[in-house]
Amino acid sequence: MSTPAGPLTAAAAITCATCRACCCRLEVILMGEDDPPAEFVATDQWGGQVMKRLDDGWCAAVDRVTMLCRIYERRPGVCREFAVGESECLTERMALHSST
Ligand code: SF4
Ligand code: SF4
Repeated sequence: MSTPAGPLTAAAAITCATCRACCCRLEVILMGEDDPPAEFVATDQWGGQVMKRLDDGWCAAVDRVTMLCRIYERRPGVCREFAVGESECLTERMALHSST
């Protein structure tokens, strides 16, 4: 994820190494078993617990230099289940690339 993202091509490998953590701009709702550090947790408008996002749109736990998760071992279940190369991943990559 530290490599600046270039235009997607059909031959481009779908890997987090060529991605600026696009999926870490999505809302991450915390479930009962999740235990991220409290400073990265926010309360949404319905009273639910979510990962805090900063003004740039990314999760507060993203390292802004490396674009890697700083709490990888304690990342929520939603993050663990997000599969690289599957449709949601491709959608987020396309959305970020088309907006930059
Ligand atoms: S899972 Fe997909 S969207 Fe998320 S960082 Fe990896 S390549 Fe990017
Ligand atoms: S907890 Fe980590 S993997 Fe999950 S959205 Fe935040 S930075 Fe990304």
